[in-house]
Amino acid sequence: MALRGTLRQAQDELRAEAVPDMQFGDRFAPVVDPERSRRGARNDNTHPFWQILVSGGILSAHVRTRRHSMVRKTVGYVELEWTCPNCNSRNPGPNKFCNGCGAPQPDDVEFEQPAEEKLITDQAKIARAKAGPDVHCPYCGTRNPGDAKFCGSCGGDLTGATARQAGRVVGVHRTAPAGMVNCPSCHAENDATAFNCSQCGASLADVRAKPVAPEPPTPTAAVRKPFPGGLAIGLIVFCFAVVAGVFFLFIRTETFVGQVQSVEWTRSIPILAMGEVENEDWLEDIPSDAEIGTCRLEHHHTQDEPAPNAEEVCGEPYTLDTGSGYGEVVQDCVYEVYEEYCSYTMLDWIEIDTITASGGDLNPYWPQVNLQSDQQQGEGEESYEIVFMADDVPYTYTTTDSAEFSQFTVGSTWQLNVNALDAVVSVEPDR
Ligand SMILES: [Zn+2]
Ligand SMILES: [Zn+2]
Ligand SMILES: [Zn+2]
Repeated sequence: MALRGTLRQAQDELRAEAVPDMQFGDRFAPVVDPERSRRGARNDNTHPFWQILVSGGILSAHVRTRRHSMVRKTVGYVELEWTCPNCNSRNPGPNKFCNGCGAPQPDDVEFEQPAEEKLITDQAKIARAKAGPDVHCPYCGTRNPGDAKFCGSCGGDLTGATARQAGRVVGVHRTAPAGMVNCPSCHAENDATAFNCSQCGASLADVRAKPVAPEPPTPTAAVRKPFPGGLAIGLIVFCFAVVAGVFFLFIRTETFVGQVQSVEWTRSIPILAMGEVENEDWLEDIPSDAEIGTCRLEHHHTQDEPAPNAEEVCGEPYTLDTGSGYGEVVQDCVYEVYEEYCSYTMLDWIEIDTITASGGDLNPYWPQVNLQSDQQQGEGEESYEIVFMADDVPYTYTTTDSAEFSQFTVGSTWQLNVNALDAVVSVEPDR
């Protein structure tokens, strides 16, 4: 179908623009919250998703709770860095020993984002990033690759060594040029990506840019189905009931005696005939005997899984700590599914006329209806109006209950409950 073809092309272009290194369909893995899987499943259905970052890369509160998981796509890999707790030197993430003092990176020193994140193209480094978190030697504490059998520093057996934390959000992916920072010691201007001051050699660890929490994807709202007539009426009745309830509950009524001055009844019956009715709906929901008019693709719903008729909407890319000194840049995506929304015409009973009877007595009757062979009688409507006089002021009461109406003999007296708007809310016999 031509419409779909155009949409697919637009989607492909969109995708190519957003994630140049990716093919549609690449690396769609179910999202696993690493923290969650490490700790084991919990009983609650909701799991913390977006994690807010506070200064210095320390992770704190979970601010957003999601109902279900989105698709997390890998954009690429970047090199992280870490700061030596002994000498405050900044070090490249893959370095296991400090460039400044030679001490190994302790297991409680977290990786941080560099001032500017460049996607790695070196396949060996990418393989390292994908290989999983590094482990710390139980004997000397040195970081070793996750698949190492023996410690590269002391030769100790790494069986059962503890793996580094992986999956932590380190911040929004930093693609923009890092800019400049001032050395905390000599105030000389330095490139923000520099580890040490070019003038005095001091560590620039303390002026490192703070990470920013990522934003989730924001899908557009789906087209709403038109209200079926019955539902619309139901909704109006419901709203009216709520409003009436408010009046009953919050507005005080006044009660006094009134005398029936006049009554009036109206009864009407609609005459129905078959006619063409125009409407719009999702193609799949249109009755099979309807004649389909023009169709267009409209946003039907948003889902977590890719689909042939879906447009991908992704959130801001952000970086995860892989535990290997490299970060995985990912983005969460949802899929806006488009379906055909069509106009259609079909034959249905429509109201062509209304026959009404009315009178000023207590003997209402239904009007005489003479139907033609292609006509039907609709549901009759009745309404009754009673005018009371109280202290020379007229009060009108209306009802649809014919049994109640039959009691309002002209001249009889009643207790009227009148609200602040001078409307008769209810009527009781005057005893
Ligand atoms: Zn050091
Ligand atoms: Zn060791
Ligand atoms: Zn300096």
